[in-house]
Order: sequence, then C-alpha cells, then structure tokens
Amino acid sequence: MQWSNDVDICTLIILVLIGIFQCSKNCISIKRSRVFLAMVLLQIIAVICSLTVRTLLIDFAFESGLWSTVLVNIFYAVQYLVPIVFMEYMVVWSGRSLKVDVKAKILFLLPVVIYAVTILWNIFTKGLYAWDAQYGFLKTKAVWVLVLTTIYSMTYGIVYASMHIRKLAFSKLVIIAIAEATIAVEMLIQYNRSHDEFVSFIVTVALLVLYLVAQNQSDMMDNSTQVLNRNMLDELLRSNITHEKKFDLVILALDDFKFVNKTFGVTVGDMMLIQVAYFLTTVTEKGKVYRYGADQFVLEIESEDVYVDTALRRIQERFRHPWITEDVSVMLSTTISCVSYPKDGATMANIIDVIDYSILSAKTNGRGTVVYAKDLNLNTLREEKRIEKAVEKAIANDTIQVYYQPIFNTEKQCYTSAEALVRLTDEDLGSIPPDIFIPIAEKNGTIIKLGLMIFEKVCHFIAKQNLRETSIEYIEVNVSVVQCMQQNFVDELLQIMKRYNVGTDQINLEVTETAAANSLVILQENIDSLYTKGISFSLDDYGSGYSTLGYIHQFPFNIIKLDRLMVWDAFANEKAGITLKYTVGMLKELKVRIVAEGVETQEQKSYLEAIGCDYLQGWYYSKAVPEDEFMQIIQQAS
Ligand code: C2E
Ligand code: CA
Ligand code: CA
Repeated sequence: MQWSNDVDICTLIILVLIGIFQCSKNCISIKRSRVFLAMVLLQIIAVICSLTVRTLLIDFAFESGLWSTVLVNIFYAVQYLVPIVFMEYMVVWSGRSLKVDVKAKILFLLPVVIYAVTILWNIFTKGLYAWDAQYGFLKTKAVWVLVLTTIYSMTYGIVYASMHIRKLAFSKLVIIAIAEATIAVEMLIQYNRSHDEFVSFIVTVALLVLYLVAQNQSDMMDNSTQVLNRNMLDELLRSNITHEKKFDLVILALDDFKFVNKTFGVTVGDMMLIQVAYFLTTVTEKGKVYRYGADQFVLEIESEDVYVDTALRRIQERFRHPWITEDVSVMLSTTISCVSYPKDGATMANIIDVIDYSILSAKTNGRGTVVYAKDLNLNTLREEKRIEKAVEKAIANDTIQVYYQPIFNTEKQCYTSAEALVRLTDEDLGSIPPDIFIPIAEKNGTIIKLGLMIFEKVCHFIAKQNLRETSIEYIEVNVSVVQCMQQNFVDELLQIMKRYNVGTDQINLEVTETAAANSLVILQENIDSLYTKGISFSLDDYGSGYSTLGYIHQFPFNIIKLDRLMVWDAFANEKAGITLKYTVGMLKELKVRIVAEGVETQEQKSYLEAIGCDYLQGWYYSKAVPEDEFMQIIQQAS
C-alpha cells in the first residue's frame, strides 16, 4: 500500500499553529479554552503516532512488534478520544452543568464507557485494529463501534449545546455542526479503507473551524483593554453558578471618566483604561478581569474574604497615585462594589441585577466609595424585579388598561378633553400605581412597547366611541422621554392613528419637564415633526421642580399643565398663592393654555377659574375611570 506522509505533516503544522495561537491568549485560564487545548494536544499526539508508525516501520523497515502495537493503540485511543472531549467542550460552552440533569449525564457517560471498554479490549485482542507492515492500519469491521461512538459524541455535543446555549451562538453552532458532520461523513467513507489517511486531517480542519468560530479571541476579549469581555463574564458566571462554585466580584466603576476623555482626548482615555485593566490583572494571582461597561471592570475572585480584602486594599492603594501615559498624569477615582455568590443572589439574572444595583448605589454614595451588596437593601431591587415581571406579563397577556379622567373647559363650561392614564393590576401584587411602574419600565426599555400599546388603546377608544360626536375634542396621552427619543417614534404613532382613522387634532401628547430638559436632537426633531403634522403638546407637571422657562420657548407647547402640588400649595401658603397667580398671568402672556391639575374642592375650582386657568382637572370633577364610566360622565354632563 502506497501513501505519503505529506497530509499528516501538513495536519501537524496546522495543529501546532492552532496550539500556539491558543496558548498566546490571555483567555487560556478559562475552562473552555483548556478543554479546547486538550483536544488540540490529543490530536497532535494522534498525528505524531501515525507519522512515527509509518516512518519508522515502513521507511526504516522496523519490525512490527511491540512498538507498532503500542503506537497504533495510542493513535486510535487518542484519535477517538477527541470527539469525547469535544462533547465535554460543548457542555462547558453551554454553561449548564450535567449534574442537574441525570438523564443527560447518563447519555454523556454512555460513549465514554463504550470507548474505554473497546480501547482496552483491543489492546488484548487486536479485535478492532492493528498494524501491519504491509497493509498499514488494519481494521476489522468491529471498528464501527468507535465510529458510531464518535458520531454519537459529536451529535450529543451539538444537541446539548443547542438546547442550552444562549445569545448569538446559534449561527456558530450551525457552522460547528457542519464541520462535525464532515468528520462523520469522512469516517464513514474511510470505514471500508485500510488506513485513516484523511480522518486526522478532517478532524484538524474541524478543530480549526472550532478555533475560528468558538475560540475567537475577539468574541472573548475586549479589544482595547485585552481583558475578558462581558460575554465571557456571562458565560463564566453562569458556569460557576450551575456548578454552585462560590465566587466574589469586585466591581470598579471609574468616576467621571467622561471628564478624562473630554479633557485629554479619547486616546489618552483609552490608554488609561488599558493601564487600569492591566493593573487589575496583577491584583490577584488567579482572579479574572472583565470589562463590564465602558468605564467599568469586574474582578472575579475565588470566594475567600481574605482575597477580597487584599484586592480591595491593593486597588485603593493604587488609586492614590496618578496614572501616567506619555505626557499626561491623571488621578483617577473609582467607586467599588463587592458582590458575592451565592450570598447576594442565587441566579445569573439576580447577580447581574445586584451588580448593576450596587454600582448605582456606590455612585449615589459618592466618588471613591466601597459598597458591599450584603449591606444594601436588596428588597427594593427585588420589588423592582417583581414589578418588571408584572409589567411584562400584563403586556404579554394584554391586561393593561387605560382609564380616562375628564378635563373641564372653563370657557365652554363642559368637558372638552380627557387624560389617558394607564392602570395595571397584577394577580399577586394587586394594583400597581403608574408612578411606580412607569419609571421601572423606562429603566429597562419596556416603556417603548407599553407606550405604543397605551397609545393604540387610546386610538381604539377614540374610534370606537366616535368621540368626534361628543364634546371631547382630544385625548391627552402621557409619553415618556424614552419613547420620544426613539428614531421611529413619529412613524409609529402616525401609523397607529391612521389604522384607527384618528385625526392628529384628536391627540395631545403630554411630556414632562424633566423629559424636555433632556433636550436631544432626536427629541426636538420628533416633537417638531409631530407638531407640524397637527398634534398638539402639553408640558406636564409644570412647577414641580424643574421649571425652566427656556423649554417653553424651545418646544412648541400649546398647553401647560400646572402640577397638582403647586395648585395645592397655593391654598396652603400665601407665597405659593402669589407664585401661582403670577405664573398663570405670565403663561397667559405667552399665549399658552393652562390646565390646573389636582382640583379637589369647590374653593379650588372657583379660584383657579377666576385667575384664568383654561382647563381644570381633578377629583372634584372625576377620578380617572374606565371607558364606559367615562362615556356616561360625558353624556350626563352634556
Ligand atoms: P400625571 O401625568 O401628573 O397624572 C396625573 C395624576 O394625578 C394621575 O395619577 C391622576 O390620577 C392624579 N390625579 C388627578 N386628579 C387628582 C386629584 O384631584 N387629586 C389627586 N390626589 N390626584 C389626582 P396616576 O394615574 O396615578 O398617574 C401618575 C403618573 O403616572 C402620571 O402623572 C404620569 O406621570 C404617569 N402615567 C400615568 N399614565 C401614564 C401613561 O399612560 N404613560 C406614561 N408615560 N406615564 C403615565
Ligand atoms: Ca400627565
Ligand atoms: Ca401632571
């Protein structure tokens, strides 16, 4: 039988290169990388055995005795071990421990046992494979046990990972699956041949694919600071949590880093971050460093209080000295928070929430502070998470309700508009006030979906009740600044209005002053664009703290809504009374219409009407009520 060693030599070169690249990475310390390296090394051993066996025994005509038996057994043992390690690799990658799933564990152990038994059995019987000086690798039909074990292991790895892997990984998985399928096909083709000339090569190509797709440096490392990135933090924390391995996290959030970027330029800023990241890698011997946010790092330490204390001391000591780049020397300050698993959170999501919450708390406490999650009141956070879930559930089940509160027109002496107010009742938490859940929905972005849902319900209501036929001219809808900042906000609102055939004159959008104060280009564009289409705007909660007349000038508000506290104060305090009177006078000069909110008594109504408020809204007239009840109120009043 003639064949050359060229393929094996090329294969060996590729493998050695993969090994070198892999070892040169900082991410070698993670288990997935170690398992990958194990596969590469095993494959290198397999190829070396194959080369040795051929070269020594053929080219140099060594006798096929003990050495050939040893080498060929090592070759097969190692070659068929790679798929089993691959299975382990995929399990590690998925981050889900086999411990928690007995069935999956048995299915995992099955090929391991078959493999071990077959390899041992062959050593004594040569019943599967052997070396023959004339024919090379001699195989019996029984080799199919190993071929099937290989195909099984690869399939197991892919299926297990596809069931548990999160985020972005699916397309990668498909590529890996194709590479593995090629190995399977090659093995089946080679099954009837006397020598496995190409199997090693194909396995190596598959390892190369795995290296490029799953071991890709840029997927694991933060490019600029060369520490592990956020994806890896997720992956490794998840893996630690499933294995119930304790750990501590020290989180650094640099204070006012924007200032460094602004003052010294982004290049200096980047160099500072590189230095901080590098310093963190030297703080502990084994701890891993991740970039968590633009100016945030996480140091993961094996759970031992003494390590955390030492790390904290070293970090604080270092931050007492300047960070120096070529020509700039800057003192940086950092707030630090410490989170430990499992004390501060039992699941991955909990831990991430606690990290974010503790960073926020540390920042609120002031520059340079250290916050321990165990000292924080995590109940607030838990409550927030429960509310978040309740909102998501209500959106999914479409149980969000919109109530309407009539607004009295003092000139026409009837109700000419109403404010739409969202209502949420949860099975477990009961009724949740909007000023509790709206800010939470704003924080996590749910407000965008929720806001559109509310807007659609309002349009549906206007159309269904045919409000044009009533005294109600328009409905005031609260919109959050988060919504207003969305690029497609205008189009989405207009589309909904078109669908329900609602005129732009039938909608008034209420924006709060805090929202307006956050003036960004998109916000201005969106408001201007809707305004030119005929939608009017109200500035909500005027006088509640952020009164900046500049915004009344900047945005085209048709209506100003006086905050209910301002209204109530005016009746309790003489100075506040004067302020209200002159505020109304000034706003009238500015030619905007005025709504007084929180009108609860006859006295308030008469006074506010007398000083010139155009509209009155409050419990004196009606609370916010469901659609039907609102329609009754309107009909009775007219
Ligand atoms: P807001 O826009 O200032 O809404 C007026 C709030 O005052 C409403 O509370 C209303 O029920 C209450 N109110 C009205 N008249 C009186 C009165 O005479 N006395 C008293 N004590 N209260 C009165 P609600 O419905 O709890 O809403 C609270 C806040 O939640 C709203 O303040 C608004 O900022 C937000 N919100 C409500 N619905 C929505 C919505 O659909 N979208 C958005 N983005 N925010 C909403
Ligand atoms: Ca409002
Ligand atoms: Ca208001």
